[in-house]
Amino acid sequence: MTKRIFASIGTVAILVFLASLILILTVLQGYYSNVQKEQMKLQTSLVAEGVELSGIEYLKQLAPEEHRITWISPDGKVLYDTVNDETGMENHMDREEVKEAFADGYGESSRMSSTMTRKLFYSAKKLNDGTVIRVADARYSIWLLLFGILQPLLLVSVFAILISLFLAHRLSKRIVDPINQLDLDHPLETNDYPEIYPLQKRLAKQQEQIAKDKEKLESMSIMRRDFTANVSHELKTPIQTISGYAELMQNGMVESEDLPRVADRLYSESRRMSQLVEDILELSQLESEVDAPSKEAVDVYAAAQNAVESLAFQAEQSDVTLELTGDHVEIIGVPEQIYTILYNLCDNAIRYNRPGGSVTVRVANEPVEAVIEVTDTGIGIPEEDYDRIFERFYQVDKSHSREVGGTGLGLSIVKHAVGTHNGTIRVESVENAGSTFTVTLPKA
Ligand code: ADP
Repeated sequence: MTKRIFASIGTVAILVFLASLILILTVLQGYYSNVQKEQMKLQTSLVAEGVELSGIEYLKQLAPEEHRITWISPDGKVLYDTVNDETGMENHMDREEVKEAFADGYGESSRMSSTMTRKLFYSAKKLNDGTVIRVADARYSIWLLLFGILQPLLLVSVFAILISLFLAHRLSKRIVDPINQLDLDHPLETNDYPEIYPLQKRLAKQQEQIAKDKEKLESMSIMRRDFTANVSHELKTPIQTISGYAELMQNGMVESEDLPRVADRLYSESRRMSQLVEDILELSQLESEVDAPSKEAVDVYAAAQNAVESLAFQAEQSDVTLELTGDHVEIIGVPEQIYTILYNLCDNAIRYNRPGGSVTVRVANEPVEAVIEVTDTGIGIPEEDYDRIFERFYQVDKSHSREVGGTGLGLSIVKHAVGTHNGTIRVESVENAGSTFTVTLPKA
């Protein structure tokens, strides 16, 4: 970065210097050309005076190389020329400056020399006898001017370029230094340069985000660790029970009259294991952002009907009446997840109920949302556990939940599915009297 700033400043400085130089030379050329014109006018007047006084003798004694002087008769014939032999010279009447001098007493013009190698300036003055004296001189060109001051110009240029490069180096360092000195861990601690304050603010924001991400990652890794520990723990108990019974049977230690009870236990433990695996798979599918299922129109009431039908036998076995009321409501969602929400809530309402109890599912069509209420007359939930029951593996009474075949994952699956539909879930309960779970699911 320092190099780029240095190169940019250096280039700009050198370009500005060269542009100024060209401008100055152009102005100088204009100035010198005016001075030269005045000098030529004066010289022409002096020569004219000399010729008036001494005639051709005056011209003859002039050094020919100084200026070219031509004396022209009133009919344009060249009477004398300090450089060329006048006898072979053509009529000068058509020369612009000569014409002007004959007409107005004085004339001047400039044009390329006959050899086209340099530009000449001509100045002509009419004498009292009607003849004209013309003086010619090479005009200052910009190159001539440049050549004349080449040495000091080169010196000044080298000096200016060196100064520019030195200043560019210092300036680029001064620009970059505050950025290099920024404390990246605490970017807002110094505020000496308002120009880099937006950068400092962005850095601070990034730091904040990094800290948040780090925290999130840490809590995720803790959650994962806890989850693995919980899964292992939950699987260990049924595996131990099953292998224990298998060993007893292998050693012929199970009496034939105990077989139905042992088979029953083996069945319920293996059910528990497969339920746990199913719940874990369901949870991981819900959390997967890669294979997120597409949403479509779902009739919540029809989904509730399916869930109630699937659980009818279980409700009958538990001596619990299961009832569905309400209206058809269509929302945009994932059909399997809406079914899971209803199934898990009804399943809990039956499992944590009492013989002779009831479960009522109500689906209401509200203006912007579908509302599901699952009310039971079961054992209820203590108020301090309202939030915790949605955590993975949290069970109010572990042994009771295990007895009724719980895995501790049902409500966390429900909460996740409600969340992916931008809905809400809450619970109200009276211990030993029953609970109501209320879910709202936005229609759009
Ligand atoms: P589980 O598979 O153990 O039922 P859940 O996540 O579905 O796990 O529920 C967590 C805990 O919340 C349950 O263990 C139970 O203690 C309590 N719970 C859930 N639903 C009800 C309910 N309808 N009545 C009483 N307690 C409930």
